[in-house]
Amino acid sequence: LKFTDMDLSDMMLAALAKIDYEKPSPVQAGVIPLALEGKDVLGQARTGTGKTASFAIPILEMLAESKKGSLPQAIVLVPTRELAVQVRDEFGRLSDGSNVRCVPIYGGKPIKSQIQKLERGCEVVIGTPGRVLDLLGRGALNLAQLRCVVLDEADRMLDIGFRPDIEKILRSCPKQRQTLLLSATVAPGVKRLAERYMNNPVMLDF
Ligand code: AMP
Repeated sequence: LKFTDMDLSDMMLAALAKIDYEKPSPVQAGVIPLALEGKDVLGQARTGTGKTASFAIPILEMLAESKKGSLPQAIVLVPTRELAVQVRDEFGRLSDGSNVRCVPIYGGKPIKSQIQKLERGCEVVIGTPGRVLDLLGRGALNLAQLRCVVLDEADRMLDIGFRPDIEKILRSCPKQRQTLLLSATVAPGVKRLAERYMNNPVMLDF
């Protein structure tokens, strides 16, 4: 399977060529076609497998087709600020040539500049659960237009103790949405999240 077999836009194929992604990794080959169809996917995938692009590519393709607003249409929840920055950078590389705005939000940094960035509008929010919940509570983050939620490294988020925050955030999301979950292990806690908050997820193991 090649990226050119995947029903991707010319803009995405150009961005992929520019960063020398020649063919999809197994995780990408598994997740991208299902995610493009709008399915919920639970992928068991470790870091280093190309899992970030497996959700960034379908989200960016969805954004390319949808009308622009100023409220986020996708949110990626991650366990750490380091991962938030990495995921933001991957979105940046893959959205080369488009005007998609991705805002990373995480603790340990002044909340004011993050509020200002959200006020200016963005399509994608990438954040750690605690800070996301904080911004939701302040009314600075509006999830009403959300179409896709990603739980990245879900097992690590649960290990850190983010379950209550994640559940509150998911309950603030529109019911009709796509949910993608990536996790190195599918422990009972991860399964429970999937059962409660995903819609007939396709399970993939890599
Ligand atoms: P990730 O698992 O998302 O952290 O990605 C691990 C590394 O693989 C990152 O440095 C990516 O830039 C790189 N990568 C992801 N997908 C591909 C691909 N299809 N071809 C080549 N490199 C890739």
